[in-house]
Amino acid sequence: MNKCLENLNQLSMVTKITEDIYLVSLPVPFGMVQVNCYLLRGEKGFTVVDTGMYSKESMNIWDKIVETGVTFEKIVLTHYHIDHLGLARWFQEKYKVPVYISKLGYREMKKRQKDDYADYVISLFKQHGCLEYSKPETKFDSYIYNFEPDGLFEDGEQIKLGDEIYEALWTPGHSADHFCFYHHGKQMMIVGDLILNKISPIVLIESHHDVNPLKEYFASFERVKKHPVSIALPGHGNIIENVNKRMEEIRSGHHHRLEEMVHAVKDEKKTSFTVTQEIYAKGKALKGPPQLMATITRFIYLESIGKVKSEEINGNIYYRAAE
Ligand SMILES: [Zn+2]
Repeated sequence: MNKCLENLNQLSMVTKITEDIYLVSLPVPFGMVQVNCYLLRGEKGFTVVDTGMYSKESMNIWDKIVETGVTFEKIVLTHYHIDHLGLARWFQEKYKVPVYISKLGYREMKKRQKDDYADYVISLFKQHGCLEYSKPETKFDSYIYNFEPDGLFEDGEQIKLGDEIYEALWTPGHSADHFCFYHHGKQMMIVGDLILNKISPIVLIESHHDVNPLKEYFASFERVKKHPVSIALPGHGNIIENVNKRMEEIRSGHHHRLEEMVHAVKDEKKTSFTVTQEIYAKGKALKGPPQLMATITRFIYLESIGKVKSEEINGNIYYRAAE
């Protein structure tokens, strides 16, 4: 085992975090650039938290890790997004490693097997005033989701990662099925994409189930706050040392935008698309779907706290500041 760990440590994409935890940085061809997967050492092999994208490059890296002699006990997923779950099926098929996902994650997987997510987003965007969004490339989506996980976990359950017991904490907002894993003794939390160091994680509506994701996202922060955390391991970017401070920064970024949005619809009702153009693109072409998605989730939140009112006209949703 020691020789394996030495070999593992030699790999450029692997960083030792503690005696028993290693970070594997894998490439992502969009936005975040890379994704963090974590290896937690145990007697029966490593538990792998998140797998990376379904890509030849990521597979090659995992193959190299296997060549060092390490073995895997199981895969555990923070949430079902492609950059985290992407290689779960591959691991199961190629290395016979059992895969664990939350019950809610399994529900999301089932939905994605049907491959109609893009259609849902197109209709959502249309409803919010954006007509020009078209179907993105989703070549591997239904493939990567088309497998049966070996085990499901739920909120509050104890889950063994390596040889240590963690608590699975349901923390929706970035995705409906998002989970963090908390080690009480070590005050360590694997935070997935709930809290990231440099960027504010996108808060997404991905299906009819997602009613008010930003409200849930803020509630997830409150949930994390109840746990003392001395080190947080995120799904992208650097490790977070002061997790409460980082949550406050993210929250205040949202509040700044929320105020800006209420101001934008003070005298006139507008669609989310129009407001996105004004706020992010300053009148130029739409910067991208993430910004529109952020505006939609913020308006839904604003309406839920009584700051704006929505009105549907000819199938389009307009918002105006509440009196
Ligand atoms: Zn991610």
